[in-house]
Amino acid sequence: MDEVAPIVIVGAGPAGLTAAYFLSKAGKKVCVVDQKSRAGRKFLVAGHNGLNLTNNLDLDAFLAKYPDEIIRKAVRQFSPQDFRDWFSDLGIATYVGTSGKVFPIPSLKPIEVLNRWMQILETQDVSFYFNSKCIQVTEQDIILEDKNTVQHLPYSHLIFATGGKSWKMTGSDGMWTRLFPSLNILPFQPSNAGFVLNHNQNYQKLEGLPLKNVVFYMGEMQLKGEVVFTSKGLEGAPIYALNQLVRKGTRALYIDLKPTMTAESIIGHLEKAKNPTTALKELKLGKAALLLLKSLPKETFVHATLLAQHMKRFPLEVSGLYPIDRAISTVGGISLLDLNEHFQHHALNRTFFIGEMVDWDAPTGGYLLQACFSMGFVAAQAILKTN
Ligand SMILES: Cc1cc2nc3c(=O)[nH]c(=O)nc-3n(C[C@H](O)[C@H](O)[C@H](O)COP(=O)(O)OP(=O)(O)OC[C@H]3O[C@@H](n4cnc5c(N)ncnc54)[C@H](O)[C@@H]3O)c2cc1C
Repeated sequence: MDEVAPIVIVGAGPAGLTAAYFLSKAGKKVCVVDQKSRAGRKFLVAGHNGLNLTNNLDLDAFLAKYPDEIIRKAVRQFSPQDFRDWFSDLGIATYVGTSGKVFPIPSLKPIEVLNRWMQILETQDVSFYFNSKCIQVTEQDIILEDKNTVQHLPYSHLIFATGGKSWKMTGSDGMWTRLFPSLNILPFQPSNAGFVLNHNQNYQKLEGLPLKNVVFYMGEMQLKGEVVFTSKGLEGAPIYALNQLVRKGTRALYIDLKPTMTAESIIGHLEKAKNPTTALKELKLGKAALLLLKSLPKETFVHATLLAQHMKRFPLEVSGLYPIDRAISTVGGISLLDLNEHFQHHALNRTFFIGEMVDWDAPTGGYLLQACFSMGFVAAQAILKTN
């Protein structure tokens, strides 16, 4: 009797490994393929400054982070709490840190989290094909290229989880688009990326300095938060949240450097002081805010009204986003319109697309990984229901 072909998952990142767990747990034969020598390279990069797995925000507020209903629906089916319960069953305890971010307990390094997950997949008899790049897809099998050999791997169902197009050293090189010449694939663009500032504005002295307790204005958006100046421009959560506007062409960014005071009270304060430098010190602005104001032309700096206006609405010109390879995530790839609610492609038989290779967006704070886990769960459940 012919052996049943396995469910093949291409991409051993968090989305693919989640699907592999739920399918193999249900007794299905699962093969995971990855072009790198090990699993989860980007997952480990994400863990460099603390592995922020998900977020403890109330579920409605959590769901509001995703612009697309299909992603919200997936997260409802496999919620942040479901994820934490599952990881706890795997022996990976989590805790809630600042701003609701959920991390593995401090005694567990990201590599230990990944190793634990991989051990369990191995005990569930998942087969791994590393250093194996998927170079072609047919209706019965996928073709894998390993250094010198080419092999055919038949499948019963296919799950693609080959990632977006940033940090290509981790394997997420976006080259999978060549596998699907007949599909309409949306161009990749950076998301959750830093802002490059117009280099005619000389802010080198600011490199490495944080800008705290300020409010950012761009287009119709207004965001509070903390950022840091870099050699190219600005990085930080509020900047990432404004990426969508820069992608659409907005360039003007304004910062309220003293949101706790009105322009009128600042003018009153400046007019009373001996000179602007002393007045600014009394206002307890941070070093970066002071340097920004000191970069203004002298006639503005010594003019109380003009200086106050700049303090309330300091203009910066954004020339674009950081290069795509340095972005935390990317948008573009397979359109959600081409997938059903289980992430199965309308035009391809028995084929699912999950994780960052699909065109959806979310901010940092654990929302990217949670969507990848939820999409992996949902695709696995849909396949389990078919047989
Ligand atoms: C610096 C940084 C920090 C981050 N911090 C966070 C955070 O704190 N919280 C958060 O939620 N998210 C964070 N992320 C985002 C998160 O890591 C990604 O969203 C997530 O890894 C995407 O998972 P994925 O499974 O879709 O794809 P990936 O993790 O990108 O995995 C895709 C896999 O597919 C393989 N592959 C690609 N093409 C082929 C092919 N043709 N054949 C075989 N294999 C192939 C690749 O080798 C890779 O292993 C961060 C990302 C970065 C870069």
